[in-house]
Amino acid sequence: MERELNERDRAGVSDAVLLEDYTNENSFIENLEKRFNENIIYTYIGQVLISVNPYKELSIYSEDDIEAYRKKYFFEVSPHVFSISDNAFRLLIEESRSQCILISGESGSGKTENSKKVLQYIAAASGHIQSVESVKDKLLQTNPILEAFGNAKTNRNNNSSRFGKYMDINFNWQGIPDGGNILNYLLEKSRIIHQNANERNFHIFYQLLNGADDSLLEKLHLKRDLNSYTYLSHGDKVGNMSDKNLDDASNFKIVNNAWNTMEMPKEEQNSLIEIIASVLHLGNVTFGEDELAKATVYENEHVHAISNILGINLDKLKHSLTHRTIDANGDLVTSPLDRDMSFYGRDALAKAVYARLFDWLVKRINTSLHTLSCEAINHHVLGILDIYGFEVFETNMFEQLCINFCNEKLQQLFIELTLKQEQEEYLREGIEWTPVSYFNNKVICDLIEEKHVGIIALMDEECLRPGDATDLTFLDKMNDRLASHPHYIFNSSRASLQIQKLVGRNEFQLRHYAGDVKYNVEGFLDKNNDLLFRNLKEAMSLSDNIILKGLFPSSEYLTSRKRPDTAITQFKNSLNNLMEILISKEPSYIRCIKPNDIQGPNSFNVELVRHQVKYLGLMENLRVRRAGFAYRRTYEAFLERYKCLSKKTWPNWKGDPRVGVQIIADELSYGTNDYRMGKTKIFIRLPKTLFQTEDAFQLRK
Ligand code: ADP
Ligand code: MG
Repeated sequence: MERELNERDRAGVSDAVLLEDYTNENSFIENLEKRFNENIIYTYIGQVLISVNPYKELSIYSEDDIEAYRKKYFFEVSPHVFSISDNAFRLLIEESRSQCILISGESGSGKTENSKKVLQYIAAASGHIQSVESVKDKLLQTNPILEAFGNAKTNRNNNSSRFGKYMDINFNWQGIPDGGNILNYLLEKSRIIHQNANERNFHIFYQLLNGADDSLLEKLHLKRDLNSYTYLSHGDKVGNMSDKNLDDASNFKIVNNAWNTMEMPKEEQNSLIEIIASVLHLGNVTFGEDELAKATVYENEHVHAISNILGINLDKLKHSLTHRTIDANGDLVTSPLDRDMSFYGRDALAKAVYARLFDWLVKRINTSLHTLSCEAINHHVLGILDIYGFEVFETNMFEQLCINFCNEKLQQLFIELTLKQEQEEYLREGIEWTPVSYFNNKVICDLIEEKHVGIIALMDEECLRPGDATDLTFLDKMNDRLASHPHYIFNSSRASLQIQKLVGRNEFQLRHYAGDVKYNVEGFLDKNNDLLFRNLKEAMSLSDNIILKGLFPSSEYLTSRKRPDTAITQFKNSLNNLMEILISKEPSYIRCIKPNDIQGPNSFNVELVRHQVKYLGLMENLRVRRAGFAYRRTYEAFLERYKCLSKKTWPNWKGDPRVGVQIIADELSYGTNDYRMGKTKIFIRLPKTLFQTEDAFQLRK
């Protein structure tokens, strides 16, 4: 508070709850901007941490900084990711309460950087014992590996995570990390076959081509020239494919070292790289067509390379790329593909191989992170969730629906956990209070996921329907069944002119809790079906490659005729699983904001920030926080600071702290409605009261 008063004008307030006009979005953003201009990137809303990406190195993450935040309470130190981390860490260790830190924000807002700081803090703040240093090392080394395979350069972020990640860190009874587990979500596998202008494929391809020595490349039949590979040359053209901020060659070394730290056998490392090389070759496999419109594989070096590297019989490989076998009620019927379908199959294969490899990699890392403690029931767990926030683009597709659905679920969790937490504290402290009204977004979650009638159910129904199902029949079905839903908006002849103008004929709009988002149905069924021809699965399962064989078990195409879950149903299930994991923990929130579109320092674009404030639901956050008691201190802490405000409590109050605090409150003539006395804490409704107290304190000092 001391700093607060001196800095209030220059650097805004450290907790937005203290803003006079807390309903005013402009003053909220102004406050963030003021602080940003002073290189103060962190601000609170109560205990929610807001982080604005500085796009420059700030000297706020040193060993000394870690020390400065150790064992300090929120209000004793300025807002910081270390403070959030310390708080969670101590609740975990001292009170055995499992924690999770939920980080959200749009691409490039600093989620992954903050999550690394949490890990850095935990590694530094937990005790040093030789026997567990290797576990900490492994935990830290998971980042370079997953980033190589799961991150890419995009227009929004040069090192953009193209997957969602949840990581559990396990602690032993001494509070030392001794294991972990990672869950991954929704890898953007379409990037394998296509990148937008000025974007790149996943880092690993460039790392391999730039960083491998000549003999390895030769073994893999690869050329160093990035432009020779179709899958790499959709986006970035010659020149900027290697990014100056991304040192692919040295990152390849880092990844190799990380594999060693994870104790991955050389044989596995080789198999991994062989699969990566094969994906590159696969992109260069092309097809012709004979007079009967049947596809034929061009005999180029790349099919040979794949056959050679993966140990798959060449003819078998070529056949699988140009034929499709269907199980018609037990009868296997094989028919040739045309050229287009062969390309389609090839790309589907590339995506499937890569996505399954990524899953394998995460599992492999987990094996390496698993220790005895992971099996124990009573271990302490701290989870970190680094996952994409709401996405609202010009055109929103299947992927955006998944991501935004995920954010609706997280909002549900926020309501469950935070409001519940708040209410429980009031209960615990014996405070009377009026419940705060807030929008419960369960109605939107239901619209999307409800059994039989929700969007996901309708989409799956269309995917399974034999015959003429298309994206548009899916849309018709939704328009028909969901017409009366208040959060579903669509274009029909009966819709208002405004909606007819706004929502296209191939679009639908969802009224998300954070705002409206329009989705284009094109490609929904295909992405949801996520079809991979049986022949390709079979060819892969015949490979010599130890990893690849396992990725395509023969059971998948031999036995069950039951269709695998669709893509969105799998996602829904994994999300619900995540919710179960999170709901058993106490959450801390980090909301990340990206200040500009140029990925550079010292630029704060108010309109861009306003959009994020909206989609992060921050004003609602603030409103809910302010509706309760904004500030609370234990009686001891309050007395310690303010005892000088009454002759009766100064210099030392020996009696019941609660009585001491009451004396000060009376002395300062607190209004009866301005505060409440709980069992162990004083609750103050408005910052004004606290300001007055603090001003009196400053005068007295
Ligand atoms: P996200 O995970 O939200 O997409 P990142 O965490 O990858 O975003 O951040 C994007 C880039 O912004 C980083 O590569 C880094 O250059 C910069 N950045 C983010 N947070 C910080 C920070 N706290 N300090 C300095 N630079 C940062
Ligand atoms: Mg990221």
